[in-house]
Amino acid sequence: MDSEKSMKVLSVASECVPFVKTGGLADVVGALPGALAPLGVEVRVLMPGYPAMKAAISEDAKTQELGRLPGGRARLISGPANGTDVMVLDSPRLFDRPGNPYLGPDGKDWPDNHLRYGAFCRLAAQIATEGLDGWQPDVVHLHDWQAGLTAAYLKLGRQPAPPSLITIHNIAFQGLFPPEAATPLGLPKAEFHPEGFEYFGQLGFLKAGLVYADRISTVSPTYARELMSAEFGMGLEGVIAARRAEVHGILNGIDLEVWNPESDPQIAMGFSAKTPARKAKNRVALAQRFKLYAGGAGPLFCVVSRLTRQKGLDLLLEALPRLLARGASLAVLGSGDADLETGFQAAASDNPGRVGVVIGYDEPLSHLMQAGADSILVPSRFEPCGLTQLYGLRYGTLPLVARTGGLADTVIDANEAALQAGVATGFQFSPIAAAPLADAIDRACDAFADKKLWAAMVRRAMRHPVGWETSAAAYAKTYAELIETAA
Ligand code: ADP
Repeated sequence: MDSEKSMKVLSVASECVPFVKTGGLADVVGALPGALAPLGVEVRVLMPGYPAMKAAISEDAKTQELGRLPGGRARLISGPANGTDVMVLDSPRLFDRPGNPYLGPDGKDWPDNHLRYGAFCRLAAQIATEGLDGWQPDVVHLHDWQAGLTAAYLKLGRQPAPPSLITIHNIAFQGLFPPEAATPLGLPKAEFHPEGFEYFGQLGFLKAGLVYADRISTVSPTYARELMSAEFGMGLEGVIAARRAEVHGILNGIDLEVWNPESDPQIAMGFSAKTPARKAKNRVALAQRFKLYAGGAGPLFCVVSRLTRQKGLDLLLEALPRLLARGASLAVLGSGDADLETGFQAAASDNPGRVGVVIGYDEPLSHLMQAGADSILVPSRFEPCGLTQLYGLRYGTLPLVARTGGLADTVIDANEAALQAGVATGFQFSPIAAAPLADAIDRACDAFADKKLWAAMVRRAMRHPVGWETSAAAYAKTYAELIETAA
């Protein structure tokens, strides 16, 4: 490969914005093709044929019959969808199901998920090795467990295959199935051992990806290091640590068009680093929306999150009395675990005008929250990268975050040294527990009381680069290295 120009990448993923999304993975898969195009990297995204995906692909897309895949007959539909070149595995028996991609109506994993994503990975490997209408990728980029088995098919197949990179977006989801699941997927029994795709007696899709892909990446340098420890590796720390030299941490960026405080149509009034007073209008609108008293002395904190243990929001419920004691208020948007939903709802009814809660998923409202709040709270127990703190920086909503994963890598804590050097953009706390969180809330309230200091931090946060430029270059470099090594 003489240069980074003309690299062709097959991106294999189960989620892609704006078609199908359950988490940050979808944002990354959706953003990378556009971010990589200026670097001469041509990305095509292979997706399962969920109803939303089939509806999005253009009418004049090409259709071809596919040979036998697990789960029966299938077709491949390829063409542009919303400006991205996509290929869709159209297998109605496997994917023509409404709602969440992974869960049935009973809220449990679909019982045939191994077939669904096994077929998907088989097809990915087939396209990678045989090409499609003369298009053959130089590199295969796999995302999370749903794509993981592709690496096994590539490595264990008879045909020469392009090199692969697997990105871990969240190691909590590993795609584990009983050993019998390997049979209909045509996986060689001889590889069912701990150095292969076995994970403690089960078939592990992500495990397979981590073993057979040529490189591994995850979405922040700190999370890359954390994943090699028992505390964060969720049982896969040994596999990852064994490949230490081939593990990269590449931060996620955000879409600077969708998340642009100057032109965002979903907020009350556009603003920039030069017009911070206009942000105040959004604050008023947000307070109204959550029935909060806007005139309090303290900052207006917000949370936009899945309400799960990972996100550490139980710690926030514990720290809430300190937040309220400082005259601050809180707006929460999220849904998830019942105990957290009821916990925040109770906090709202106990503290009218000070705590407001909307249970649900509301993209437009999430924009208003980023625009109107003074600070966004992200007290996650682990956080591979995190996106909401990046939106917070862009909208001058200073992030207050746990010092872990991508949160540690993207927010500069307002400690003495950082304040002296004039580089602070937010607040970090560690260890990850309620008391250190409450202390950080105290520090944020102190900083908020110093209007000059706060305004300087807001301006600095808004200038902090949070787009894809640097990270897209890092992916392009990794692809180029993979191609060079494989040549
Ligand atoms: P994760 O992928 O672990 O949920 P991230 O911070 O990486 O966390 O990405 C979460 C994404 O989902 C962000 O784009 C965030 O704004 C969005 N989000 C989370 N909860 C909600 C909600 N209740 N309403 C709207 N958007 C939400």
